[in-house]
Amino acid sequence: MIDTIWQEFLSIVAQEAGTHVVHTWLNAVTLKQWDALENVIYLQAPNTFVCEWIKANYLPLFHTHLCRLLNVDSLRVHFTNQEATELVPTNKQIIPAVSLNKTSQTGPAQPIDVVPSVRKAATIRQKNFLNKNYSFQNFVVGPSNQLAYAAAVAVSEKPGKLYNPLFIYGGSGLGKTHLLHAIGNEIQVAHKRVEVLYVTADHFVNEFINAIRFDKVTQFKERYYALDILLIDDVQFISNKEQTQEAFFHIFNALYQAHKQIVFSSDSDPANINGLAERLRSRFEWGLVSDIQMPALETKVAILKRKAELAQQQIEDEVLYYIASRVISNIRELEGALIRITAYAQLVNLPITLELAKKLFQRHREVKEAVLDFQTVVNCLSRKYRYTLTDLRSQHRNKEISHVRQLAMYLMKKLTNKSLQEIGHYLARKDHTTVMHAIQRIQRDIATDTAFGLQVQEIEQELLNE
Ligand code: ADP
Ligand code: MG
Repeated sequence: MIDTIWQEFLSIVAQEAGTHVVHTWLNAVTLKQWDALENVIYLQAPNTFVCEWIKANYLPLFHTHLCRLLNVDSLRVHFTNQEATELVPTNKQIIPAVSLNKTSQTGPAQPIDVVPSVRKAATIRQKNFLNKNYSFQNFVVGPSNQLAYAAAVAVSEKPGKLYNPLFIYGGSGLGKTHLLHAIGNEIQVAHKRVEVLYVTADHFVNEFINAIRFDKVTQFKERYYALDILLIDDVQFISNKEQTQEAFFHIFNALYQAHKQIVFSSDSDPANINGLAERLRSRFEWGLVSDIQMPALETKVAILKRKAELAQQQIEDEVLYYIASRVISNIRELEGALIRITAYAQLVNLPITLELAKKLFQRHREVKEAVLDFQTVVNCLSRKYRYTLTDLRSQHRNKEISHVRQLAMYLMKKLTNKSLQEIGHYLARKDHTTVMHAIQRIQRDIATDTAFGLQVQEIEQELLNE
C-alpha cells in the first residue's frame, strides 16, 4: 500500500513540478519504510549529491503531498545515502534503486547526471515504455469518454488505417495517458514485432535537446523513423519550442506517409494550444480529434469499483458512492481518495465503513477550510491587482484581467477544498472546464516564468498567513 502512495506522490509531483523532477531526481530515490507511529518516512538516495539536492529543493513537496496522502498532519523525512550505508568500493558505479524502470507512465527514464552507468543502460535497452496496467479492460467506459475510447480501440485494431493521427484531449487525470498505453499494449500483444513507442512530449523535448548537445540529431530522428506506432503524451509541452517542433514535423511526415499510426494526447484541442506552428496544428487535426470529459457519478462509482477490485479490496457500495460524490475534479483524485481510505483503514486496523470515510474526509476539509475561503483569495488579489470581485465575475477578457481571474481560480483550487464546479460558479463561469484550463495555464506560466512563479509563491504565503 505504501508503494501505491509513493507512486501516487510521484505522479502528483510530475504534474506539479514537472516530469523532469521525477525523472531526474525522485526516481533515483527508494522508499524504504514508513513508520506510522512516529510519522517518519525513510528514503534512500543513491549518493550524497542526489540526497542533498532533493533536500534543498523538493522537501516542501514531500510535506505537502505525502502528509495529505498519508493522512497525517506532520511528517519527518529521513534520508539515507546508499553510498555511505553500503560502503561500496570507490571504483564501483552505483546504480540508483530499482525505481528507474517504473517510469512508464511519464516516459523513458532520464539519466541522472551523477550516475553515468544509468545513461548507458537507458539507451542500450530498446523499450516501448508501456505500462501494462493501463489496458482497455481496465478502462471504465461512460458517456464522458466513450468516443475517445471507441476511437482508441479502433486505432488499436487497424493501426494507421482509420484515424491518423488520433488526437485525444481533456483535463488532467481523466484517462488520456491510460488510453495511450492501452492502444500500445493492445497492438504490442497482437503484433510482437511491431515497434511501438510511448513518450511524453516533455521527454521528447529533452531528448531532442540532448541530441543537439551531443551532435546526435540524425540518430535521434532515425530512431523515430523506425517506429510503427508513436504515442505522444501531453503534446502541448512542445509549444513554444520551435526547433523541436521543426524536428517533430519531419518525423510526423515520415511516419504519416508510411501509414504508421500516431496518437497524441493534450490538455486542450489543437486550436487552443498556444505557441504551436500552424503546420503542426493543422496536422494534429488531420485525423480524428476527440475529447474526454469528467465522468458523471455512476461512471465514477464504476471506476472506483474497478480500482478496488484490482487492489483486491472489498468496499461497500455506499462508501464508493460517498467517495465518488465528494471527489470531483478528476479521476486521479478519485483514485487518490480510494488509496487514502484503504491505507488509513489498514493503518488504524479498522474495516472501511461509511463512518470511517466520512471521518477521513471531514478531517481534510477542516484542515483546509480552516485556512481559507474564496473571499479571502479575492480580497488578497484585489489588494495586489486592483480588480474587484465584480471585475473577476465579469465577462471582460482583456489580457490582464483574464490572467488575474485565472490566478484566482488556481489559488482557489490549490488552497481551498472546493471543486472546480464550485469555483466556476463563484466566479460566474458557465462550466468547470474554464477553471480547469485556467489552472493549467497558471501552472504552465509558473513553470516557464520564474518571476511570475515567485509572485504566486508570495501571494500564497500571504494568504496562508492570514
Ligand atoms: P490523464 O493522462 O488524462 O491526466 P490518466 O490517464 O493518467 O489521466 O488517468 C489518471 C488515473 O485515472 C489513472 O490511474 C487511470 O488509470 C485512471 N483512469 C482514468 N480514466 C479511467 C477510466 N475511465 N477507467 C479506469 N481508470 C481510469
Ligand atoms: Mg496524462
